[in-house]
Amino acid sequence: MDVTWVDGGTELLVYESSVAQRRILSSILSDADYRPTLVSSSEEALREIETGRYGVFISNLEHADVPGLELFWNLKANPNTKSIYTIAITASEGNRALIAALDSGADDFLRKPFDMAELKARLRVATRSVQMQQDLSRLALTDALTGIANRRAFLDQLNREIACSERTGRALSVAMVDIDHFKRVNDTYGHGTGDKVIRKTADRMVNHLRANDRVGRLGGEEFGIILPDTMPDDAMPALNRLREDIGASSMRTETDEALQVTVSMGLAVHRGMETADAVLSRADEALYEAKETGRNRVCLAF
Ligand code: GH3
Ligand code: MG
Ligand code: MG
Repeated sequence: MDVTWVDGGTELLVYESSVAQRRILSSILSDADYRPTLVSSSEEALREIETGRYGVFISNLEHADVPGLELFWNLKANPNTKSIYTIAITASEGNRALIAALDSGADDFLRKPFDMAELKARLRVATRSVQMQQDLSRLALTDALTGIANRRAFLDQLNREIACSERTGRALSVAMVDIDHFKRVNDTYGHGTGDKVIRKTADRMVNHLRANDRVGRLGGEEFGIILPDTMPDDAMPALNRLREDIGASSMRTETDEALQVTVSMGLAVHRGMETADAVLSRADEALYEAKETGRNRVCLAF
């Protein structure tokens, strides 16, 4: 199962309306081992940007269709595109256009005619900046103990899957998982062993589930699972197999004693127009029922 949660792209997009300039840029960038996508209109540029593939955007300031400044401004105002590193290109000699570009959100600028060495150096800066952004956002979205998505990342993903399910009409199953009698593990073997059990349980889930499924740690010894495109008739047996797999896994205490834990789960199938909080809350009620009726089981929410 994929545990990468960062969607930030790394590719290079170049918007230049002049055919001759596009050719020059393309040749310089290819010589510098970049494989840029080149576009000639703001419409095309925006369509490409929406794909989320790009980490760096180079754009001429002097465009015929949409003024370059407006483009930078719009990118920086949109939460989905604001972390794209933008470089303004201008042929104007004074510094007014450059200052305006930087004030509109451009991260850097280049003057025409291009100096090959300078262009490469600026792209190295851009790459470093994109890398740092991605490292930071990975940290902000990853649970430090288990390496899987944290609560925030899980909720982001759930919101995306809800939007997708509403668009396509496909079923979406959501489960809450909680380790049974976990307090006893901590009390009997210590907090260090408790942490190992949480890590191992997360590993089992990640290894057991399908590539499109998502797992996050919601807090403590509680996890969430998203099963896209899955009806309860398929989700229920899948979750029961996972539950059995976890229950059968042999874990080790810090003093190397064998230890096993079971989990309880609540499954809810997303209803049209239901929010992420609402579907999770129904899964939580089903989880409560699983606990109340004896633990080590999966209950389906109403
Ligand atoms: P139930 O079967 O009803 O779920 O019982 P439980 O003992 O698992 O439930 P409870 O919620 O009472 O206990 C959860 C415990 O998890 C309490 C808390 O100290 C512990 N815990 C929370 N986060 C962590 C963590 O990161 N590491 C460890 N080792 N323990 C944690
Ligand atoms: Mg518990
Ligand atoms: Mg709990």
